[in-house]
Amino acid sequence: MVRLLREKGITDERVLSAMERVPRHLFIDDAFENLAYEDNAIPIGAGQTISQPSTVAYQSQLLDVSHSMKVLEIGTGSGYQTAVLCEMKAQVFTIERQKVLFDRTRHMLTQMHYHPRCFLGNGYQGLTEANFGLFDRVLITCGAPCIPNDLLKQMKIGGIMVIPVGESKKQTMLRITKTREGGYETERFGDFKFVPMLQDINFHS
Ligand code: SAH
Repeated sequence: MVRLLREKGITDERVLSAMERVPRHLFIDDAFENLAYEDNAIPIGAGQTISQPSTVAYQSQLLDVSHSMKVLEIGTGSGYQTAVLCEMKAQVFTIERQKVLFDRTRHMLTQMHYHPRCFLGNGYQGLTEANFGLFDRVLITCGAPCIPNDLLKQMKIGGIMVIPVGESKKQTMLRITKTREGGYETERFGDFKFVPMLQDINFHS
């Protein structure tokens, strides 16, 4: 898989070696196990998908994560991207709105000896500064109709957000750097297709 990622233009060795260490087949249902190391998005239940490896690698590379950085991920899903960030030695905070996925993934990550802080909540609101401080990096792994203002506020100066923004059919990958309080620089990186970022928490399905 790592060879495939190199062919697709991923050059960040921190990302490649993290992805080499995370066993992707453990994050998907047995029925799809033979597809685990191919470049596919795969259903993970509750109508959601694990992002395809090249997308995980691409977002992780844009995020430019170094050791000990505080990273906020929106959309825990299967936990695969979370595990990649943990392997990159980030301090990971991750939010999921679907209770079934939140419960299952938190349990599994712990069993695999990954220790992110997992939250059941609405990613649009992020985590309050009073309780969690500001973040170096914010990664959104679902398609956002707009850039959530609360998440911009929860970034440090010099912080980076990677977010796919657009209507449901396709989104443009944006990298937003916070240059000063209220000041942002935005770069665009092509079109992607993510499951939608939804507004409220789902405690049931
Ligand atoms: N990072 C995940 C991607 C899963 S798909 C992985 O590697 O598997 C995106 C996830 O975002 C889904 O699990 C979906 O339930 C979740 N999601 C959608 N809207 C959300 C919101 N507002 N807050 C938190 N999570 C959300």
